[in-house]
Amino acid sequence: MLRLGITGGIGSGKTTVCKIFETLDIPIYYADDRAKWLMVKSPSLQTGIIQLFGDKAYAADGSLNRAHIGGIAFKDPAKLQKLNALVHPAVFVDGENWQQEQLALGVPYTLKEAALIYETGSYKMLDKVIVVTAPEEIRIQRVMKRDKLTAEEVKERIARQMPESEKVEKADYVIQNDGQHSLIKQVLQIHQAILELKA
Ligand code: ATP
Repeated sequence: MLRLGITGGIGSGKTTVCKIFETLDIPIYYADDRAKWLMVKSPSLQTGIIQLFGDKAYAADGSLNRAHIGGIAFKDPAKLQKLNALVHPAVFVDGENWQQEQLALGVPYTLKEAALIYETGSYKMLDKVIVVTAPEEIRIQRVMKRDKLTAEEVKERIARQMPESEKVEKADYVIQNDGQHSLIKQVLQIHQAILELKA
């Protein structure tokens, strides 16, 4: 079974593209959502986060106190790095377990969606990586609308990410989500190419 990854910058359309793969019955591991889930459900991760950020890291109802953690991590990059060093390996192990479950079900390939695939080195465990791209102006507009942010705030987030051009250079497949090229056609082409790789 092949393992694929799908990545792209903020607002490029990773999740939108994954929804199309879902219609082809391809199982998707949404790493960023799963990371958020693990941060409130995994006892070992919770212990590590409390050690780093104190008891205020969680609210009384067990939910993550994002404002508290974000406030500290924003001012202290070393803490952010430590948080990532806790979360990324936990998500990696969880993703591997998921992968084994899918293997047992006999699916043709799996897809792992993550904002950071090249940055965390997780591409090394993947057979192929798809990069979703869109012109920066379109990404800014889409994220402003989705997250109710200003253009400046979106630009700041884009500036903190690996440049799209670098991701495209590393990619095995590129999907252009610019509103001009059909997403469905591009997904079907890649799907077919992967099935042929397997044959
Ligand atoms: P993030 O990394 O920020 O989670 P993402 O890469 O997963 O983003 P999406 O959430 O799929 O991106 O898309 C960003 C926003 O743009 C969403 O509101 C989505 O509905 C919208 N969008 C994505 N692709 C298109 C498209 N082709 N046409 C119109 N809207 C789109």
